[in-house]
Amino acid sequence: MSGSLAARDLSVRYETPHGSVYALRHVDIEAHPGEVIGIVGESGCGKSTLVTALANLLPANARIDGSISYNGVDLAKLDAHRQRLLRGDEIALVSQDPMTAFNPVLTIGDQLVDFQHHRKDLGRAQKRARIAAMLGRVGIADAERRMDCYPHELSGGMRQRVAIAAALLTDPGLLIADEPTTALDVTMEAQIIHLLRELRREYNGIVIVVSHHLGVIAELCDRVYVMYAGEVVEDGEVDAIFHDARHPYTQALLACDPARFQERLDRLPTIPGSLPNLTQPPSGCVYAPRCDRAFAPCGSVVPPRVKLSASHIARCHAVTP
Ligand code: ATP
Ligand code: MG
Repeated sequence: MSGSLAARDLSVRYETPHGSVYALRHVDIEAHPGEVIGIVGESGCGKSTLVTALANLLPANARIDGSISYNGVDLAKLDAHRQRLLRGDEIALVSQDPMTAFNPVLTIGDQLVDFQHHRKDLGRAQKRARIAAMLGRVGIADAERRMDCYPHELSGGMRQRVAIAAALLTDPGLLIADEPTTALDVTMEAQIIHLLRELRREYNGIVIVVSHHLGVIAELCDRVYVMYAGEVVEDGEVDAIFHDARHPYTQALLACDPARFQERLDRLPTIPGSLPNLTQPPSGCVYAPRCDRAFAPCGSVVPPRVKLSASHIARCHAVTP
């Protein structure tokens, strides 16, 4: 079963001893089977918070508002048991640090057998056969031998492949990869991008790729959401974002050096100024304090959603259709 995903007016805040951190504010996002969605933005802008909320895996200090529906079902209305089933069967998150996905004292094979706990119809031998096939599919040679390895015996790139294989073993309708290449060197990064491209061709579910690497997003995605300080400031088809960006933040990101988004960057180019303090987000546009096009309403009035085409939206007072 694969279905469409829609989050409406989604907000997440973290309760901390120093007050509430408003990590995500009023985000709308949707995705349909067969689409690859990119989420891009500077460190701390809320990318992981967004995808963790979509996967229903937020930590205990998070408070969530708004709705998330998958296949027309409102996830908040499901009881905990059905949410767990949905998470196991349908929604898989490959997290930012592949090491945290594994238990260091169990072999890869044993862990991947456990990942299939929802498949009551399969015996252990059948589960191991599925694992070997899946490891082969993500490009791991001598899969049988690798299954007996412990996580620390694998390279970073291999662990990331195993994490992707583990996610695919559940046949998810929604596969989320949070910074799948950040922890890797350039060669490994190229291999993982190649793998994701291959999967893209075969896989008919939704893929969401989080990255601060504009080149990865441009290469892999159909549509892109650009985030700034907990909000989506612009979204559209990949061509619209890379060749007709309208939000001053997206333009600033790309303008730092247009050639560089083809290269590997360890972080996004820097725009003068710093991210607002998320314990006290500004009342108007979040980008206004850094924006060279800010004018009177920007500091106090929330910007409108300006529709530039059927699929291209910018949230900005200075943008006209
Ligand atoms: P990066 O690119 O560095 O991975 P990100 O865009 O994924 O960043 P998030 O990890 O979603 O950003 O963090 C958004 C904001 O929420 C940050 O200010 C972060 O410090 C804060 N935050 C994240 N997790 C928690 C938590 N469990 N408790 C409190 N604050 C948190
Ligand atoms: Mg993150």
